Amino acid sequence: MDLAWVESHREVADRAGLALAPGERLLAGGTWLFSAPQPGVTGLVDLTTTGWSPWEPRPDGGLRLAATCTVAQVRQAPWPASRLARQCADALLMSFKVQAAATVGGNLCLGLPAGAMIALTASLGGEAVVWTPDGAERRTPVAAFVTGAGTVDLRPGEVLRAVDLPGPALRAPTAFGRASLTTYGRSAALVIGRRDPDAVVLTLTASVPRPVVLTLPPAPDEQVVRAAVADAGAAVGWYADVHGAPDWRAAQTARLAVGVCAELAGAAS
Ligand SMILES: Cc1cc2nc3c(=O)[nH]c(=O)nc-3n(C[C@H](O)[C@H](O)[C@H](O)COP(=O)(O)OP(=O)(O)OC[C@H]3O[C@@H](n4cnc5c(N)ncnc54)[C@H](O)[C@@H]3O)c2cc1C
Repeated sequence: MDLAWVESHREVADRAGLALAPGERLLAGGTWLFSAPQPGVTGLVDLTTTGWSPWEPRPDGGLRLAATCTVAQVRQAPWPASRLARQCADALLMSFKVQAAATVGGNLCLGLPAGAMIALTASLGGEAVVWTPDGAERRTPVAAFVTGAGTVDLRPGEVLRAVDLPGPALRAPTAFGRASLTTYGRSAALVIGRRDPDAVVLTLTASVPRPVVLTLPPAPDEQVVRAAVADAGAAVGWYADVHGAPDWRAAQTARLAVGVCAELAGAAS
């Protein structure tokens, strides 16, 4: 869609270029920005010219994904095990054209419940690296960065620079479960499990307004899983939109969580 009020487009070459003038908005892949009217936006500040490397290895064997890393590049990153990254990339309801343009940063900063890059990075214990306008940097867990449906922990002038994923989480076994009203529909419930040495870490997205991370004992039994999921839903509320009713989402989330835990237990035995 044409953004009728936009009069300027500038490319970001260095950090100073990230300072926004009134009416300017950061542009990443543009897949959401150009999909809806943006009244009041008169200038676009293009992050894709920053030259940030899409991914970088971390000293602990982890990975840094740049905010500008596209979903297609996420698939190609050097993961110790790439299955989860592929599952999450495919969970985004999008064509290959959108995958090529949509970025990790755009997905996180939109804060949509079905944000699959949110699910991926939250489930791997990712930390959002935020550049602040005074030239400093702050870090916050991805699970806390997304604060609600469409709301994130970004203050005026702040820019999401990257997401750091810790090495041990990248090497941990994972399991993935997703429910949608239609085969290629938007995620209505998405559960990712990670088996740490002393716990199973479940991350719920899509069915809840913001990511919920549950730490359960290793090989939890079904009752424990169902109770933890029910408590989480009671605490944050089950999300409701055209992609699924709250009670259906609650039931799907519990079913997926039980299956994910069973898969992780099976892989361990
Ligand atoms: C066909 C289609 C299907 C879609 N399906 C899904 C889906 O299933 N799930 C889902 O979650 N979304 C979906 N979307 C929405 C959206 O396209 C994606 O969430 C995408 O990941 C957004 O990334 P982008 O790089 O294109 O962001 P943009 O559109 O460029 O930007 C999105 C917002 O984030 C801000 N922003 C971008 N990067 C930064 C940064 N580094 N720091 C601070 N602010 C920033 C922008 O200013 C803008 O407000 C879909 C879109 C389309 C067109």
